[in-house]
Amino acid sequence: MLVKKHKLAIHGGPKVRERLFPAHITIGEEEKLAVNKVLDSGILSNFLGAHHENFMGGVTVRDCEAAWAKRFGAKHALTVNSNTSGLIAALGAIGIGPGDEVIVTAYSMCASATAPLFYGAVPVFADVEPDTFCLDVNSIESVITPNTKAIVVVDLFGQPYDAHAIRTLAQKHDLKIIEDCAQAPGASLDGEHAGMLGDIGVFSLNYHKHIHCGEGGVLLTDDDNLAQRISLIRNHAESVVGPMGITDLTNMIGYNFRMTEIEAAIAMCQLDKLDTLLQTRWGRVKYFESKMSGFEALTMPAVREGATHAYYSHSCLWNTTVQVARNVFIDAVKAELSCFELRQKEGVKLGVGYVPPIYLLPAFRQRCSIGKTHDPLTNAWQNYEIGLCPVVEDLHNRRMVVHDFIVPSMQEADIDDVVLAFEKVWDQRDTLLV
Ligand SMILES: *Cc1c(COP(=O)(O)O)cnc(C)c1O
Repeated sequence: MLVKKHKLAIHGGPKVRERLFPAHITIGEEEKLAVNKVLDSGILSNFLGAHHENFMGGVTVRDCEAAWAKRFGAKHALTVNSNTSGLIAALGAIGIGPGDEVIVTAYSMCASATAPLFYGAVPVFADVEPDTFCLDVNSIESVITPNTKAIVVVDLFGQPYDAHAIRTLAQKHDLKIIEDCAQAPGASLDGEHAGMLGDIGVFSLNYHKHIHCGEGGVLLTDDDNLAQRISLIRNHAESVVGPMGITDLTNMIGYNFRMTEIEAAIAMCQLDKLDTLLQTRWGRVKYFESKMSGFEALTMPAVREGATHAYYSHSCLWNTTVQVARNVFIDAVKAELSCFELRQKEGVKLGVGYVPPIYLLPAFRQRCSIGKTHDPLTNAWQNYEIGLCPVVEDLHNRRMVVHDFIVPSMQEADIDDVVLAFEKVWDQRDTLLV
């Protein structure tokens, strides 16, 4: 292969891939027709924040919810305007409040950990499993206190969390489980769908996810009471609890977390495409992994026993016995590659680590989240400092390599270029040693 003989791009040589990678677009004619139907109706949202038959939204929202409930075998599906608001509604629904503690992961999108703060409760960080990157049951157990009320688990990168062990632990301590399955639509564990592996599951429909409607979220639960409380928090609970005769007023100051009819129409079309999109994604993962099977610097993602992984991203592990440093090597590979069409500003979709440990964010380090005084973090017992979750820090700083080159729009020839870039840099790795 001639291209491998050229100087590395990072040293001024030609890139392996100049042409942009194909845009990952899942929106088509179906969505346009469905949106036009809503536009023609003249009613873009049909929620009323009052004790009224429209309290639960318009016909498209309800149809969308019925479709999601059916797909995942849930008794209730409730749409919201984002996963972030969904997590807040879920934590409100289980009744947490000031003084309560909620165990969260230190390695996820920040909303997975901050939701408890909106009710004055304290997120308590636990560490993750080094091979699946989901919460570690032993670490969870080590931070349970008499104040612990719930656990927010995350199916990170599309891998279902360790539901069997963590549910057993939760039962023992009477804790609720909120499953943040934003990255895992279509994942499963021993036949149970991600989203149904806790008391409440929360999907995201923002535009980075497997399927999307611009912005949006869907909650799943089998619990009638939790479903009702979510619907109240979603839509101005305070104005309807009186007429509805609700007596437990905990967290019954609602928000406007309502999804519009337009987004619901798109979300329904997108759900129809999920299984096909997943099949394609699995094909891309299989192809990439077969091509990279002999590549000694990277270990391909582990899959939990009994699990189907949804591969939101493809999260590999760097072999730290390799002489060249991970960050230097990955910078060199990135220099060989191009961006995705439409997403040029986001750079090459290959990175070292995911996001920094959440406890290092300013809100935690400065213990200031919702108030200058009486902040829930003021007297929280954890130290928001380097060293709190060693596995997360090791993954982030030394081991993890994440990329998006497995999205359905990638063809095999595109993946070949990615593999070639890794090989070219590997062959010339000595030039990266200083
Ligand atoms: C995307 C994402 C969120 C936030 O979703 P929004 O719909 O943008 O609020 C939360 N948690 C995880 C794990 C995510 O990937």
